[in-house]
Amino acid sequence: MEWLSYEKKLKELGYSDKDIATIKPAFIFAEEAHKNEKRMSGEPYFTHPVAVSLYIANLKLDSSAISASLLHDVVENQGIKIESVKKEFGQETAFLVEAVTKVDAIKYKGIEREVESLRRMFLALAEDIRVVAIKLMDRLHNMETLEFQEKEKQQRIATETLELYAPLADRLGMWEIKAKLEDLAFPYINPEKAEWLKSQVDEKRKRGTKFLEKLKPELENELKQDGVEPVKISYRTKHLYSIWKKLQKYEMDFGRILDIVAMRIMVRDVAECYKTLGVIHKLWRPMPGRIKDFIALPKPNGYQSLHTTVFGPEKNIIDFQIRTVEMDREAEFGVAAHWAYKTPLGKKPEWVNKLQEWYNEHKNTSQNEILSALKIDFFKDRIFALTPKGDVIDLPDGATPIDFAYHIHSEIGDRMFGAKINGKM
Ligand code: MN
Repeated sequence: MEWLSYEKKLKELGYSDKDIATIKPAFIFAEEAHKNEKRMSGEPYFTHPVAVSLYIANLKLDSSAISASLLHDVVENQGIKIESVKKEFGQETAFLVEAVTKVDAIKYKGIEREVESLRRMFLALAEDIRVVAIKLMDRLHNMETLEFQEKEKQQRIATETLELYAPLADRLGMWEIKAKLEDLAFPYINPEKAEWLKSQVDEKRKRGTKFLEKLKPELENELKQDGVEPVKISYRTKHLYSIWKKLQKYEMDFGRILDIVAMRIMVRDVAECYKTLGVIHKLWRPMPGRIKDFIALPKPNGYQSLHTTVFGPEKNIIDFQIRTVEMDREAEFGVAAHWAYKTPLGKKPEWVNKLQEWYNEHKNTSQNEILSALKIDFFKDRIFALTPKGDVIDLPDGATPIDFAYHIHSEIGDRMFGAKINGKM
């Protein structure tokens, strides 16, 4: 992409001339550094950092984060020293680039036992939420272009995406990113099932959306009589991989998944949310047990909305989500909006609780301030040690090699008589 069209995009996203002036040198530097490098697709390598940086710009992160995403592969791929990045672009951008490079060393090798520790180590090394965001967008673009990689690498990257990156996105509330990552990885992990599911869902999605569109005028009319004018009405389709997970839970019974397509109604304030719910229930009979008030009782992750399922015309079951514009933005992009809400056994890891606390404290600060202010420092009291097989063991500060040995197995702890750390006794 040429600078001029890139600049235009940044302007459209609301970046100031001052921001753009600081980003330009990074753009030119990265373009030059990757000049002779190609992607597996045959495209110039530079298309990749450009794509990643525009995803970051979409999240409205600051100019340092955009510069860092343009430069994120120059150290790793082109052997450019981090000192020269610091000299050219300053401390903050260099710090972000260096952290992204550090995090690159973390690879998921298919050992599920310690995957939670791996996620924690990832966050500890990242040190800053912007680094996590850059890595997530880097992974998103790599997943979008994964078809050009060799088969073996496709498998490894797709598995790692499902086990490491998607859960991280989920816990940081980047729910849309999580859904995209999962749906991109699914066909590489289970091609036949993914294709079958897609054909099934496409059909239901089309039919469902058409039906909801037909109902819309009637609903709008009724709402108007009660003085409610929705800001926006959209149709939300559940993403493929989450349907797949639900299907497995429900013995592959499609009939039990009632919310493949839902009508999402955005209104101005909380009072209008309840008014809208009332109007819907006046029009159609609600299904018992399906009315959920996540406004009065938000989900543990902070998610807010009213949900209801009704018996619509022509024996159709219809799912509704009602929320304010504010709640909607938070659910889609909020740093914390969706984290940890489906962790196995309902057990929330301690660090998720800490993120949650932190989020609640900062709930009223703007998105931009939140993201640029967030330093991940609650792992300062942890030690991450790797086993010879590459498993990550997560121990408290002050732990010794004896603790490490016992963590692996009590037999090993009982019998150990020495330890080598980084190759030294
Ligand atoms: Mn990259």
